[in-house]
Amino acid sequence: MDYPLTKIKGIGPARVKAFEAAGIRTVRELVMFLPKEYRDLDDITALCDLRPGDTAAVKVCVAGEASVRYARKLTIIKVYVTDGTETLPVIWFNQPWLKAQMTQGRELLLYGKAELRSGCVTLVSPTVESGGGLVPIYRNIAGIPAKQLRQSVESALKLCEGQWPDELPERVRERYGLCERNFAMRCAHFPDSREALQAARRRIAFEELLLYQVALQLFRHGERQGIQIEFPDDAVEKFWATLPFAPTGAQRRVLDEVAADLRSDRAMARMIQGDVGSGKTAIAFAAIALAHAGGWQAALMAPTEVLARQHYESAKQLLEPLGIRCGLLVGSLTAKQHRMAHEAVATGMWDVAIGTHALITEGVAYKNLGLVVTDEQHRFGVRQRSMLSEKGDAPNVLVMSATPIPRTLSLIIYGDLDISIVDELPPGRTPVQTRIVPEAKREGLYGFLREEVKKGRQVYFVCPLVEESEAIEAVPAEVVYEELRTKKLPDLSIELVHGRMKPADKDAALERFRTGEADVLVSTTVIEVGVNVPNATVMVIENAERFGLAQLHQLRGRVGRGAHESWCFLMAEPNARLKFMCSTNDGFKVAQKDMELRGPGELFGTRQSGTLTAGIGALAGDTELLKLTHDEAHALMRNPEDEDVRAVIQLARERFADRLENVAVN
Ligand code: ADP
Ligand code: MG
Repeated sequence: MDYPLTKIKGIGPARVKAFEAAGIRTVRELVMFLPKEYRDLDDITALCDLRPGDTAAVKVCVAGEASVRYARKLTIIKVYVTDGTETLPVIWFNQPWLKAQMTQGRELLLYGKAELRSGCVTLVSPTVESGGGLVPIYRNIAGIPAKQLRQSVESALKLCEGQWPDELPERVRERYGLCERNFAMRCAHFPDSREALQAARRRIAFEELLLYQVALQLFRHGERQGIQIEFPDDAVEKFWATLPFAPTGAQRRVLDEVAADLRSDRAMARMIQGDVGSGKTAIAFAAIALAHAGGWQAALMAPTEVLARQHYESAKQLLEPLGIRCGLLVGSLTAKQHRMAHEAVATGMWDVAIGTHALITEGVAYKNLGLVVTDEQHRFGVRQRSMLSEKGDAPNVLVMSATPIPRTLSLIIYGDLDISIVDELPPGRTPVQTRIVPEAKREGLYGFLREEVKKGRQVYFVCPLVEESEAIEAVPAEVVYEELRTKKLPDLSIELVHGRMKPADKDAALERFRTGEADVLVSTTVIEVGVNVPNATVMVIENAERFGLAQLHQLRGRVGRGAHESWCFLMAEPNARLKFMCSTNDGFKVAQKDMELRGPGELFGTRQSGTLTAGIGALAGDTELLKLTHDEAHALMRNPEDEDVRAVIQLARERFADRLENVAVN
């Protein structure tokens, strides 16, 4: 099954490259690339029931002549269709050949998304389907058209037919009523029925989750002897006294837990979970101050350079007065600066090194690393985390996460971590008011934004990332920026930040926003992580329906950081999901809801490439399955010498060894 992809008809060198970029190198890996969802073409929606935002299959008949319009670089085909309950327009972009196919009276099975265009519910770029049943939809792979992808998977399945060895021990399969592997692989792609699909998904998800749990246990820190840090009893109070504010009760409690860990001879492995703005950074700095008081070095790792620099600035204010020497180590330093940083770390000239993953690249050796803090840990993988701790002699590890995860779930995902929760916000915050703003009310919003800016406040605009193939439907940051700058808010000072900019330009733009020179910051989701501008009181989220609830909550946490009333506007047609966002500011409630809606698998995010996405990401199992596999993994690992168990461990290694670093909670 490890045949090269070129064995499949229609795959040449260019497509091999495209597949490789997505982490798929062999026929086996292609078969393991499972659909992210299925279209149910038997589930037909009546046109009169179609609402903006719905994705649905409709059975219609062409009700008029198709028209062609040219706008900028687009060719737009438009035709009216009817199913007897309603007549609606359908449009396609850049598919001129469709015009000739849309002959009046022709019957069509269409599948696609309804949007509100010029006040009219419109089907936008639906696919024209030929048969009914369940059709697999795969994650987009750049350079591979969807149809070709579907056909390639079909050929790959044929090549591998009957060859999947059943990797789970027989008794495990029996106990949990899991179907056979070859059947599972076929039905996961091309199910004969809903029941077959469900059995297949359960089987594959079970296996993947079980192996993941086993792999996690292989990597866990366990009860390792760790560095014991002794510090004077008044060190904690001393640190709090240097802060410009009084700590909250939750901050005190969590720091006490951290302090007890540091003093114990077991290596600390603790995660601090707290809503955005709950003040986790202060706790991290406190822990660093304690380590320093005990004579040990510390490292603080952030997922982005912007965030690392921000921490470095705060550290200079809060830690240097205590005599703690801070240094910055990030990828963009010059070679010479790098050398100097490495030396400062190695000789102990720096008491704390703050940076990005540059902190854990090879040439970095620490003098006496006693504490490692990683911020926004969900951006780092388990593997990277353990690499950092390997830099020292089992140093204490503290991770901070703003993604609240229901407790039972975090025990399973981070089997190796103790958890502290910061469940209190600093005083004086007014909760963020969240509102849904449908397109029809957009103009009114601009007036409101002007008023806020007049009062001296600042505004964020966040746009979703868009995949190239759908660029047409969404509002990319650049388009929004141009629109605001030239038409909607030309009197304000507006900055743009997105992923393809040079880091220096990006930093400069962020800096102008941070200092208040700019009124409005338009960005993709890069600001999601950690940026702190207390004067910003309004967040506008474009195409809000495209974001997950947990992500919306993270974004919303960027405002409401000062004393002023703050607002979050979700630009979308109202739906139950978004209404839920308006009803609560509690991150744990949002996380719970998000999990109910999407399944816990989605929490693992979509950044991983290849097969892991297939197993965990796409097969969002239920919490029940996660729990079953967690317990079963523990049961298996009690007998690591058992022959069956050895086989499972071997598999877990094979499947996750080089991927653990990508297992990140989103
Ligand atoms: P997060 O938990 O999202 O990392 P931060 O640590 O960035 O939150 O804190 C958010 C803001 O709240 C910062 O401006 C910080 O200075 C401030 N802050 C933290 N703790 C307190 C406190 N106890 N009282 C008042 N302000 C605080
Ligand atoms: Mg933070």
